[in-house]
Amino acid sequence: MAAQETVDHKYVYDFSEGNKDLKDLLGGKGANLAEMTNLGLPVPPGFTITTEACQAYLVTGREPDGLAGQIEEHLEALERAMGKRLGDPQDPLLVSVRSGAKFSMPGMMETVLNVGLNDESVVGLSAQAGQNDRFAWDSYRRLIQMFGKTVCEVPGEEFEHALDDAKSAKGTHNDLDLDADDLRGLVDAYKKIFLKHTGREFPQQPREQLDLAIRAVFESWNAERAVLYRRQERIPADLGTAVNVVSMVFGNLGPDSGTGVAFTRDPASGAQGIYGDYLANAQGEDVVAGIRNTVPLNELERLDKKSYDELLGYMARLEEHYRDLCDIEFTIERGKLWMLQTRVGKRTAAAAFVIAGQLVDEGLIDLDEALHRVNGAQLAQLMFPRFQLDHEFQPVAKGIGASPGAASGKVVFTSARAVELAAEGESVILVRRETNPDDLNGMIAAKGILTSRGGKTSHAAVVARGMGKTCVSGADEIEVNVPAKRFTVAGQTVNEGDVVSIDGTTGKVYLGEVPVMPSEVVQYFEGSLDPEHIDNALVRAVHRIMTHADGKRRLAVRTNADTGADAARARRFGAEGIGLCRTEHMFLGDRRELVERLILARGADEREAALAALLPLQRADFVEIFREMDGLPVTVRLIDPPLHEFLPPLEQLAVNVAVAQERGEDVAKEEALLAAVRRMHEENPMLGLRGVRLGLVIPGLFAMQVRAIVEAAVECAQRGGDPKPEIMVPLVGAVQELETVRTEAEKIIEEVTREKAVEVLIGTMIEVPRAALTAGQIAEAAEFFSFGTNDLTQMGWGFSRDDVEGAFFWRYLELGIFGISPFESIDRDGVGRLVRIAAEEGRAARPGLKLGICGEHGGDPDSVHFFHEVGLDYVSCSPFRVPVARLEAGRAVVESGGSDSR
Ligand code: ADP
Ligand code: MG
Ligand code: MG
Repeated sequence: MAAQETVDHKYVYDFSEGNKDLKDLLGGKGANLAEMTNLGLPVPPGFTITTEACQAYLVTGREPDGLAGQIEEHLEALERAMGKRLGDPQDPLLVSVRSGAKFSMPGMMETVLNVGLNDESVVGLSAQAGQNDRFAWDSYRRLIQMFGKTVCEVPGEEFEHALDDAKSAKGTHNDLDLDADDLRGLVDAYKKIFLKHTGREFPQQPREQLDLAIRAVFESWNAERAVLYRRQERIPADLGTAVNVVSMVFGNLGPDSGTGVAFTRDPASGAQGIYGDYLANAQGEDVVAGIRNTVPLNELERLDKKSYDELLGYMARLEEHYRDLCDIEFTIERGKLWMLQTRVGKRTAAAAFVIAGQLVDEGLIDLDEALHRVNGAQLAQLMFPRFQLDHEFQPVAKGIGASPGAASGKVVFTSARAVELAAEGESVILVRRETNPDDLNGMIAAKGILTSRGGKTSHAAVVARGMGKTCVSGADEIEVNVPAKRFTVAGQTVNEGDVVSIDGTTGKVYLGEVPVMPSEVVQYFEGSLDPEHIDNALVRAVHRIMTHADGKRRLAVRTNADTGADAARARRFGAEGIGLCRTEHMFLGDRRELVERLILARGADEREAALAALLPLQRADFVEIFREMDGLPVTVRLIDPPLHEFLPPLEQLAVNVAVAQERGEDVAKEEALLAAVRRMHEENPMLGLRGVRLGLVIPGLFAMQVRAIVEAAVECAQRGGDPKPEIMVPLVGAVQELETVRTEAEKIIEEVTREKAVEVLIGTMIEVPRAALTAGQIAEAAEFFSFGTNDLTQMGWGFSRDDVEGAFFWRYLELGIFGISPFESIDRDGVGRLVRIAAEEGRAARPGLKLGICGEHGGDPDSVHFFHEVGLDYVSCSPFRVPVARLEAGRAVVESGGSDSR
C-alpha cells in the first residue's frame, strides 16, 4: 500500500465523520466509536488518526506532512466542544490515546489513559472533581505508569512493585485503601522510576505527551508480540493501526463510578441474557488486569439501576443494529453512563451456531446470512469428543495435536494386541514410536494413537486424521520400548494395560482416565439425536443450518472409504457416494502371503494362481461396499502403491535370513523375498513403478481387479441392488496408458455383464502434471476425472510430502513462501491452476465429463470453495469431514452471491 503524503490528504476524522464500514481506514475501534456516535449513544467526543498516517509513519519513520496540523485542528475543536483545554492547570481536558487496527488484536497494542495531566493540572483536576485529591493523584500515577511502560519502555514490573510497596506500607491488599497522600507519594516514586530508566523527567507538556503517545501507538504495530500474533492469525503486516484520541471519562471518581464489559449474549454458549463484569471505582484497565475482583454485570442493577437500564437499552439497540453478538466496554462517571467501545464479539464454535440460529428466529438475519456466519472449522471442532478437565489433571507430556479429539484407554504397543483387546470391548490407546501401514488394523481398533516421533504429517497423523481418530504424535518426552511393552515418561513407567488419556487438539498426554464427553453433534449426524424432539440449542441450530447448506450447494459430497463400515458411516454423515475407494488395504493382513506369491511367481501359471486366489477376496470386499452405498456411485481406484510396499523391510528380511541360516533352517523363501526386495528397490518410490505403470507391467493384475469389481456389481444387481461402479486408473500421464487399460477392462466388463446389465464407468485420476496439461486428450478415453491433489501437489512442487514437512516447511511458513501448507489447503495459483486447466480442457473435449476431487483437500474449507469456483461436480473426503464439506459447499454458493458459478 503506497503511503499517501500530500499536505491536504485527510488523516484525521472526527467521530461524527466516520462509520462502521470504514474499518480499513479508521480501524475497528474507531469505526465503531463513530458508528455509536452517529447512533446517538453517549460516546465521549474524540477523533481518529487513520491507518494511512500510521503506514506513512512506519515507512518513513516520521509523521506525514499535514498530520500535526490536522491533529491541532481536531484537538481545538474537541477543546471547544468540551469547554476545556488539554492539560489546563485550572480545568484540564484529559484524553486517552488508543490503538485500534482493522482486525481486533486483543491486548497486542497499546493504550495510554489520562494524557494531559502534569504537576499543575493534577491540582485543577482535583478541584473540578470537588476537591477529590485521591482521584486526581490516582489518575496521575496511572498516566505515568502507562506512559512510562508504553511510550518509554520502562519495565512495567517496577511500577507494580512500587504500588505493592505502597500497599504493604499501608497494610492493605486493596488499592482503594490508598489515600491521596499515599498516591502523591506513589507519583513521586513513579517519577523516579521514569527518570532512572529514561534519563529524563516525566514530560510536563500536554501536547508533547499526546504526540509521543500517538507515535508509540504507531510503533506498537511492529512490537514483537503484535508481529507474532499477526503471523499466527494471518493478518497482513502492512495494515497499520489507527489511533483514537478520546476525551476521558472517569470511572474512578468514587463508589458511584465504575467501569465494565458487557456481552449481548453468552460468547461461550450463545445463550441469551446479560453477561459481563463490573468494577466500581476503577479505570478500564483494572478489569482486565484482574487487580480487584469484579462483580457480575447484573449486580449493577442494584448498584445503579438507572445506568443499568440505560445500558441494557443500548445493548439491545447495538445488537439490532449490528445484527450480531456485541462486545461492549463502558464506564460510569458519577451515575452517567459512557460507551467506550463496541465490536462484533468473538465466540466459541458452539456459540457461533447457536447465535446464528437465534438471530434467524428473531428475524434479524436470514438463513443465507446464518450460513455465512458459521464455518467448517467450527463444525469440525464440535464433532470431537472433549475431556472434562475440571478435575486436577496434569499432563505428563506434550506432543503435537495431530488429529483432534479426546481419548482414554489401556496402553497397547502392537497392532495385534490392540485388535485383541478391542474385540474384548476394551478401549485402547496404541502407543508406537511411529506407525506404518501394518499398524492399520490396530489404529482402526484403537480409540487413539500416541507416537513419540513424527509431526503433523507423519503416517500416524495423516491416517488418524483420515479416520477422524484422536492422535498425538511426536511426544518426544516419551521413551517407547515395544519389546518390553512399556514406555517411560517423566520418571514414570507405563506398562501395557495401564490407562492413559490423550488430547489430540492440545497434544497433551495424561496418566489415568480423564472423563470424556461424546459430541452431541456427531450423535445428531449419526441419527441418534432427533433435533426436532430434544431440547438442545446447539443440535437444533446445526440441523437447521446444515439443512439450508444442503439446499444451497451445487457440489455433491462423496467420501473416501475403503470398507463397508466406513461407507455406512459416511452415508449417515450425508455422503452421496464414494469418490475414492482404495484397494491397497485389500492386499494387507493375511493376504500379504498372496501378494508375495504374486511377486515371486515364476512364470504365468504361478502368477495367475496367485491372482485367482485374490479375486474372490476382493470381490467380497466390493460386494460389501456396493451394498452399503446402494444406489450411489462408488469410484474404485485400481492398485496404486509400489508392490514392494507389501513386502517386509529389507533389514528385517536380511536378519531373518541370517538367523535362519545360522539355525540351518530352510531359507529358500526368505532368500527369494530378499532378492525381490533388493531388485524392486527404488530411489524415489513416489515417482517409480506404481499406479497405471503396475497395471501395464504385471499381466493380469488390473484385469483381476476389474473382474472383481464388475462381478461384485453384477452379484449385487442380481440380488436387486443398484450398484454404480466407477473404475478409476491412477497416475495416468498420457492418454495411451488409459486407452490400454480401457481396452482390456472393456472386454472384461462386456463379458461379465452379459449375465446382468450393470453400467460401469471408466475414468482416471488427474494427479500427474502432464495429465492436467493434456486433459483434452485424456478426456477422449475417460468418462470422469478425479483430481488427486495430494500427488498433484507433490509433483507440482517437486517435493515428497513425507520428506519435506519436517525438513523445511517451518522455514517456508516463516518466510511467508507458504501462507499455509499446500497439503492442507490447495495452492490456488499453481496446483489449482492445473486443476482449472484440466477441468476446462477436459470438459471442452468431452461435454458432461464428470469432475471430482479425492485428495485430502476435499475436506478443507478453503479448498472446497475453490473447487466450487472451478465448477467440479463433487468433492470427496474422509467420512468425518463429510458434514464439513457439505457446510462449506453451501457457504461457497452463498458467498459467491448465490449464483451457480459453473
Ligand atoms: P484495548 O483495545 O486493549 O481494549 P482500549 O483502547 O479499549 O484498549 O482501552 C482499555 C480501557 O481503557 C477501555 O476498556 C476503557 O475502559 C479505558 N478507556 C479508554 N479510553 C477511555 C476514556 N476516554 N475514558 C475512560 N476510560 C477509557
Ligand atoms: Mg478495549
Ligand atoms: Mg495419488
